[in-house]
Amino acid sequence: MRILVIGQGLAGTLASHFGLRKGWDVHVIDAGLPSASSVAAGMFNPMSFRRVIEAWEAEAHLQVMRQTFLELESITGSKLLFEMPIHKRLANSDYAALWKDKSTQLPWLGAPAAHWPTEGIVEGGGWVNLPLLLNLWRDRLKAEQRFELRGFQDQDAENLKRGQWDAIVDCRGTSAGIDGPLPCLDIRPYRGELLTIQHQNDGATPPQSHILNFGKWTIPLGGGQWRLGASYEWNQTDLEPSAETQQYLIDALHAAVPNMGAMTVTEHQVGLRPVSRDRRPAVGPYPGIPGWYVLNGLGTRGVLIGPRWARHLVDIIDGNATLTPETKPDRLLFSKP
Ligand SMILES: Cc1cc2nc3c(=O)[nH]c(=O)nc-3n(C[C@H](O)[C@H](O)[C@H](O)COP(=O)(O)OP(=O)(O)OC[C@H]3O[C@@H](n4cnc5c(N)ncnc54)[C@H](O)[C@@H]3O)c2cc1C
Repeated sequence: MRILVIGQGLAGTLASHFGLRKGWDVHVIDAGLPSASSVAAGMFNPMSFRRVIEAWEAEAHLQVMRQTFLELESITGSKLLFEMPIHKRLANSDYAALWKDKSTQLPWLGAPAAHWPTEGIVEGGGWVNLPLLLNLWRDRLKAEQRFELRGFQDQDAENLKRGQWDAIVDCRGTSAGIDGPLPCLDIRPYRGELLTIQHQNDGATPPQSHILNFGKWTIPLGGGQWRLGASYEWNQTDLEPSAETQQYLIDALHAAVPNMGAMTVTEHQVGLRPVSRDRRPAVGPYPGIPGWYVLNGLGTRGVLIGPRWARHLVDIIDGNATLTPETKPDRLLFSKP
């Protein structure tokens, strides 16, 4: 099989990994546009905190996720997967009671600990170093002459028609909603900003051994650094970091960690999460264009759900899996005005 993957964010990285694992001749192009994956915090969490329910098919997603990133660690020779508990601040007594009740039913949840009565604990969480993975994977593809830094061209579609490619796998993230081929997929940008902060060694710090969720969240990176995020804004596509959002995140952190010592913001990043209207990914053939497949709509949980659906897509292309109705791309089709 000769496969062309368009886009090397998380989706394209995973699709090319599973294609190569099948022994296929996989090539990847990327236009070098700002990508969600290169700024993402990479956190995974089997819980949805608003109603204290399990995330969509959490167990199945977690299992493939863990196996895949461990495999990628061994291929790249670098540590990528950091498993650690997530502590959720219990904002009021109603929420604490709901948490306590759910902790008797859901395997991921611990009841609030006696020494942390205002925090519920989630096992099965952590984060993946996506920027590092993307760079290492690109280097590897380049070394095997499988990567080109360029945008999709009409000639690529021609080459698919002529049989030079057996399949094209379209992993363009939010670009899939705005550039060809027609018709487009309804993948919406969900803008987010996040910070990397360096603590100055005086006063209290965010926790160093677990992720803390206080509505916003901190992820410990080690060396006195944390990622602090994130903002969520619909219908905005500008990629300029905003001073107001930075202040908003820092104020939230100060409220959550009293007596926080001085810190500096070492990085302030912005990205557009590719989200579908029903929050499910698009995985399968693109209707009307034989040989054209899509992996998109990984949304706010690309790390958790991406591996399972990338593997599924490669199995569909190989004829070893059937389409899952919930994730069929044709539910997201629309014609450009
Ligand atoms: C601030 C922020 C924080 C986040 N935090 C988390 C988190 O903690 N956990 C989590 O699971 N998810 C998180 N996400 C979401 C996560 O980033 C996405 O789910 C995932 O990265 C999407 O990957 P993707 O490959 O589909 O898209 P992208 O990463 O956007 O990649 C698309 C790629 O396609 C390329 N491309 C586009 N058009 C073309 C073209 N015409 N030709 C060739 N190449 C093209 C682009 O150059 C780009 O590299 C976060 C996102 C943001 C913005």
